[in-house]
Amino acid sequence: MSTKKPPPLGNGSPARKRCPVCGEISYSQAGIHPQCNQVRSESERLKRVEKSAVAAQLIEELTQRPVMGRWDKTCPRCGTRLHSRKKTCECGHVFHRPAPEHA
Ligand SMILES: [Zn+2]
Ligand SMILES: [Zn+2]
Repeated sequence: MSTKKPPPLGNGSPARKRCPVCGEISYSQAGIHPQCNQVRSESERLKRVEKSAVAAQLIEELTQRPVMGRWDKTCPRCGTRLHSRKKTCECGHVFHRPAPEHA
């Protein structure tokens, strides 16, 4: 007399994997819905594009900053804002060369 009970399966067989993208149980061997796999690879590609876009923006900001900084020179005589590359002011004030990076 064999009263073998089948093992409790619970909520389905443990072989079933959950799709890492949508979290639903996937019946495919890969454990991911082919459609979700496509979505994932697409989003990863988008992330990469976003990253490079952010990097490009950063580079743009960094390259623009020194340009703005060049206008950070004021004549001590008349107070006129001048381009830092200008060596003389319209009022006749002569700027000394900006101290180079050495003590
Ligand atoms: Zn899925
Ligand atoms: Zn001046």
